[in-house]
Amino acid sequence: MPFSHLSDNLDKLATQGLYRSRRVIDSPQGIHLQVDGKSVINFCSNDYLGLANHPAVVQAFKEGADTYGVGSGSAHLICGHSKAHHALEEELAAFTGRERVLLFSTGYMANIGVINALVGRGDTVLEDRLNHASLLDGGLSSGAKFKRYAHADTAHLDTLLAQATGNKLIVTDGVFSMDGDWAPLPELARTASQHGAWLMVDDAHGLGVIGQHGGGLLDYYGLDQTAVPVLMGTLGKGFGTFGAFVAGSELLIETLIQTARTYIYTTALPPAVAAATRASLRIVMTETWRREKLAALITRFRVGAGQLGLHLLSSPSAIQPIMIGDSQQAVDVSKALLAAGFLVSAIRPPTVAQGTARLRVTLSALHDEAMIDGLLDALAAIRLSKIA
Ligand SMILES: *Cc1c(COP(=O)(O)O)cnc(C)c1O
Repeated sequence: MPFSHLSDNLDKLATQGLYRSRRVIDSPQGIHLQVDGKSVINFCSNDYLGLANHPAVVQAFKEGADTYGVGSGSAHLICGHSKAHHALEEELAAFTGRERVLLFSTGYMANIGVINALVGRGDTVLEDRLNHASLLDGGLSSGAKFKRYAHADTAHLDTLLAQATGNKLIVTDGVFSMDGDWAPLPELARTASQHGAWLMVDDAHGLGVIGQHGGGLLDYYGLDQTAVPVLMGTLGKGFGTFGAFVAGSELLIETLIQTARTYIYTTALPPAVAAATRASLRIVMTETWRREKLAALITRFRVGAGQLGLHLLSSPSAIQPIMIGDSQQAVDVSKALLAAGFLVSAIRPPTVAQGTARLRVTLSALHDEAMIDGLLDALAAIRLSKIA
């Protein structure tokens, strides 16, 4: 029988505690979710600022749909590039302090497209070991020599760069998506410049959330377009909407328009999504209280989790993993938390390395202190009965 191994593969995933399944959500995104008919407090969304269901963002989306309809009709280069897309690109360029911005339909596609447009056979792409899957896939599919350096280890990167050939592209997450720590960007920028390499930063989890006005990690460190020629950001996380963008020089953006296949050969985002994102960007830039409140909640969670003796990582961000190790145990704790009314996802291999399964707790500006304390209390209760 052809493909008979598929059911064996699924059985094997189940016995290893690695089987994945979806929950059906029947409410808007937010800190209160209806999951399978039950109301829970959400601790696993990337909507860090609480904008996915913000009234002004929803209103802009509705007005965008009134103006443009739903579908964009085609790719940007055919007839799908609307005034709403164009205005958002210009506003994001000003926001990131880059010459130009190009919208992509998803972050996954942006990363595949950019890396493939910039390097190929004879070149070298160097990536942090813990980079997001889309960055790794971009590097692997590019045809360039693919090197992974130890996590955040600029000395290791330096050694690899010394042996690298062709054009050299260094690629890193800004905030690491499953660990929450920050890449050492100033050191990476210095190393890149010493070796005549380009640095690309995927700041999916930093934009909107880090920096006085939400400009992300590059804003925080004051790294301009010369220090970091390629900045990639997503719109489905801190911005609360959908899509992604790449920011950089005129030369970079024109190169992507002419050659990035995941830009050229795909339908443009619905214009109403761009309209909604413009509203979201205004809130990101002006409402600093969201970042301040989030920072206070992060501190409260870390102090409380420390008192419980939970194994956290050194993450200053809204991503606060609780390390468990065993995949099945991580799933069990996640289930017990759900029964207690808290939605926290268990992250398992191959998303993270073998033996490093974890609960990925994410915090939002819309949580309050009582919710953080409630989650900590639930963790304390589960730990006593299930793990210890
Ligand atoms: C989510 C994410 C992406 C993918 O973005 P999508 O718009 O969801 O496709 C890329 N990189 C990182 C670091 C991410 O966390």
